[in-house]
Amino acid sequence: MEKVISGIRPTGNLHLGNYFGAVKSFVKMQDEYDCMFFIADWHSLTTHPTPENIRRSVRTILAEYLACGIDPEKAPIYVQSDVKEVLELYLYLNMNAYLGELERVTSFKDKARTQPDNVNAGLLTYPTLMAADVLAHKADKVPVGKDQEQNMEMMRLFARRFNRIYNVEFFREPQSYHFSDKAVKVPGLDGSGKMGKSEGNAIYLCDDEATIKKKVMRAVTDAGPTMLNQEKPEPIRNLFTMLEIVSSKDTYDYFNDQYNNMTVRYGDLKKQLAADINAFCAPIREKIMAYQADEDYLLRVAKQGAERASESAHKTLSEVRQIIGFRAL
Ligand code: AMP
Repeated sequence: MEKVISGIRPTGNLHLGNYFGAVKSFVKMQDEYDCMFFIADWHSLTTHPTPENIRRSVRTILAEYLACGIDPEKAPIYVQSDVKEVLELYLYLNMNAYLGELERVTSFKDKARTQPDNVNAGLLTYPTLMAADVLAHKADKVPVGKDQEQNMEMMRLFARRFNRIYNVEFFREPQSYHFSDKAVKVPGLDGSGKMGKSEGNAIYLCDDEATIKKKVMRAVTDAGPTMLNQEKPEPIRNLFTMLEIVSSKDTYDYFNDQYNNMTVRYGDLKKQLAADINAFCAPIREKIMAYQADEDYLLRVAKQGAERASESAHKTLSEVRQIIGFRAL
C-alpha cells in the first residue's frame, strides 16, 4: 500500500472550506492508503507563537480532525515535535541544501517581504524541514495545494542529491497528490472569492447555531433577478454553491427554480441555508466538544501516533546514519 503523509499547519479552527476542500478527502484516503498526519508545530515556530498558542492549537487540531472522521487506528496523527529523528534528517539535508536555491523559493521570498523584521533561518530552511518530515518515512505521496509545489520540487531534489552523493538508491521521490482538482471550492458569502480564515469570511465547524445563522444572514445578495432564467452574478452563485454543498438536491432545485422564475426571496433561502449548514455542522461540533473535553484521549492519540511515526523514522535514520558513515541508531 502506498504511503501518504500530510502535514497540518496549526493555524486555527477548521472551516467549511478546509472540510470540503481537504479534510473530507483525508477521511477517504485513510481507507485507500497507508496514511499518516502530523501537526507541524516545529514549522509554526517561524512566526514565533506563544507556548499557550502552540498547546491550544495542537489540542484543537487533534479534536477537530478526529471529529471529522480521521481514525487514528487507520491513520496515526502525531505531533511533529514528538518525532526527534526528523530533526536529525533535517540537519543532514541542510548540509546539502544551498543558500541560493533556498533563497529562490517563492514562499520564502513572499514571507521575507511580508515579515521583513523576522526573516529567520527556519523560514529559509522550511523546505528542508518539510523534506525531512516526508523522507523520514519514505512516503510516496503528499497531498498538497498548488502553493506547495515548489517545496515538493525541493524535496525531490534533496532526495536525488542524497542518493547521488552517497551513490545509493535510498530515498524515492515523493509525488504531489492533488485532490484539490476533484474537491469542491467552497465560496465565501461576502460577495466574491473563496472561504478562508484570512479572508475573514469563514464559517467554522465549531460555530454554534446562532453564529452560523448570523454569518449566513449577512451574506451579500442583490435586488433579485430581473429576467427569467438569467445567469447568476457571483454573490448569488456563491449562495447557490453553498446550497449545493450542504443542502439536499430538492432544496437546491426549489430555490433554483424560484430564482429562474424570479420569485426567489433571499431571506428564505438564507434561513434554509443556515439551517442546512447547522444540520451538517452540529454532529461534528458535538464531537469536537467531546474530544476537547477528553484530554486523556487526545494525549493517547498523540502518543500512539508518535510511537508509530518514531518507529518508521527510526528505521530510516538508522540506515541514513550508516550510509553517511555514522554508527546506526
Ligand atoms: P488553509 O487553512 O488556508 O491553510 O487551507 C488548508 C487547505 O484547506 C487548503 O490547502 C485547501 O486544500 C483547503 N481549503 C481552504 N479553503 C478552501 C476553500 N474555500 N475551498 C476549498 N478548499 C479550501
